[in-house]
Amino acid sequence: MDFQLNEEQLAAQQMVREFVNQEIIPHIAQWDRQQVMDDRILPRLAELGILGINLPVRYGGQGFDYITLGLVCEELERGDTSLRVVMSVHMGLNSMALLQWGDEEQKQRILTPQAKGERIAAYCLTEPSVGSDAANLQARARRDGSAYIISGEKIWISLATKADHFLVFARTDPEIQPAHRGISAFIIPRAAPGVSTGDIHGKLGVRAGSTGWVNFEDTPVPVENRLGQEGEGFKIAMSCLDNGRYTVASGATGLIRASLEASTRYANERRAFGQTIGSHQLVKQKLAHMRQWYEAARLLCLHAGWLKNEGRRNTRETSLAKWYATDHSVKAALEAVQVHGAYGYSDEYPVERFLRNSKGAVIYEGTSEIHQIMQADYELGTRSDRPLRCELPAYDAEFWQEEA
Ligand SMILES: Cc1cc2nc3c(=O)[nH]c(=O)nc-3n(C[C@H](O)[C@H](O)[C@H](O)COP(=O)(O)OP(=O)(O)OC[C@H]3O[C@@H](n4cnc5c(N)ncnc54)[C@H](O)[C@@H]3O)c2cc1C
Repeated sequence: MDFQLNEEQLAAQQMVREFVNQEIIPHIAQWDRQQVMDDRILPRLAELGILGINLPVRYGGQGFDYITLGLVCEELERGDTSLRVVMSVHMGLNSMALLQWGDEEQKQRILTPQAKGERIAAYCLTEPSVGSDAANLQARARRDGSAYIISGEKIWISLATKADHFLVFARTDPEIQPAHRGISAFIIPRAAPGVSTGDIHGKLGVRAGSTGWVNFEDTPVPVENRLGQEGEGFKIAMSCLDNGRYTVASGATGLIRASLEASTRYANERRAFGQTIGSHQLVKQKLAHMRQWYEAARLLCLHAGWLKNEGRRNTRETSLAKWYATDHSVKAALEAVQVHGAYGYSDEYPVERFLRNSKGAVIYEGTSEIHQIMQADYELGTRSDRPLRCELPAYDAEFWQEEA
């Protein structure tokens, strides 16, 4: 067991930390208030190589490992959740699915521009009437010669109005039972006919990010853009979540750290009853809890990242990390607001944003209830993970860093 981060991991962590400190934290309150994603964010993430951080160099990436992806997400969400969400959908839910399930031609044609940040990617599973129960999705994909014709509505899609490529799940066989066997996965470019998108306004959190809807009306998609085999879409969707949830868990760990840092600073400045509030035992207790939650969440994430590096199945461990880290990021943000008293209730301090942002992550990528059911089912033996036709490749430094 080695608890030491290596030089590459530390360098990537430091690079993102500096970016967040210098280019995000000074502006984020204003962007959050304006409720728009600043136009400079995506080009800057691309320029820094973050959008392809853990992908092989031969596919346009930076060649770092999966643990680095987690560290990057922690640093990004310490700045703002909207930045980590970009990595969850562009990398975790989409690009890593191409790495896992794509053929060589798809990796060259679709993954490579995504890894370079020339194309932004999103993930379209949720529909107006289907969220947790994704096996019952209604979008349709009808085969027509060498193409599929896609129709359906997707909602709550992160980067809906920013992405160039959507990974879309639609039903190719409406009759087959169980229903999840009738779902297939497609990469659909925004530019395809019949694609329309819009933003959702009035969100509780992630206001500096983009969340919206994507509709497909008789959208033709060539067979070459189907990811995996026909009927394999549900398995692909769930395997994407193993990677997306890892980024969410790592980000939530960063949010716990942000709550702890802000609270510690304030506890050392604010005075009450003739001493700094950090001298009062009940305030100390909140800081101690936040440290406990941060360290536990971080270890769960590092474990999941290590399993990915080893090429070992990690659905169970990633679910546990996601459930624990996101639940405790809500708790940490609540405590941070409490430590700040009335000032925590205003956007003069960042902690109210932390609280609003933390709530989304206990809903998306499996609600906390779904993760509890999963964990209990593993314990009871009513759930187990069978090998997939395509597993996420283990991290192999030589292969990852070699030019094509
Ligand atoms: C900010 C944000 C960004 C998002 N980004 C994306 C994205 O990029 N792509 C995408 O496809 N989706 C995205 N989503 C959607 C998200 O994945 C869904 O909201 C989530 O899966 C939950 O589905 P739902 O909202 O329909 O809730 P429902 O499934 O309707 O659940 C409602 C409530 O019932 C509970 N519940 C449901 N079933 C059970 C059960 N069996 N046992 C116990 N309790 C249960 C849930 O836990 C929840 O509390 C996003 C959502 C948000 C808020």
